[in-house]
Amino acid sequence: MSKSGPFPVTSCDCPACRAACLNSPGWFMPNQIAPLANHLGLSVEELFRRKLAVGVTQLPGGGKVHGVMPHKLRDGKKPGSVWTLTELAQPGRCVFFDRGKCAIYRYRPYECARMMHDRPREAVKLRHRIVPRWTAAALRPFGELVGRGLAGAKGTPFGKTR
Ligand code: SF4
Repeated sequence: MSKSGPFPVTSCDCPACRAACLNSPGWFMPNQIAPLANHLGLSVEELFRRKLAVGVTQLPGGGKVHGVMPHKLRDGKKPGSVWTLTELAQPGRCVFFDRGKCAIYRYRPYECARMMHDRPREAVKLRHRIVPRWTAAALRPFGELVGRGLAGAKGTPFGKTR
């Protein structure tokens, strides 16, 4: 485990992490998308259309904000689409989970790398650290790809970027 930062990087070698890979992929930080695309030899657009999705988080005040995550493999959903809270609650294997391992381990989402499955309150704080980074500007390229406006963090209780 790394000691750096408020949310240390954790090992993925536990049943809870694997369960998350089978159900709830974590969110990326915006600055992780281009390096992952480069690593896979894809453009950001190709990566999004083939492997990623837009997720949504419900805020304490009732609003919703979007962010980018790996696609979940599930009937009726294609990569590069927007998921609702109801859809996200359904099971679905992360597109990068391959034979029991993360296929993008070095490039895995910020949230995956720091998730503490046995500490739900810390998990909520972790998501709330990521949400402000998905501003309207950060989401704009993905909104253009999905053909609709996406809800950025500006104006939410987590609208500050630090
Ligand atoms: S990106 Fe990797 S660590 Fe995150 S859910 Fe997918 S397989 Fe698991």
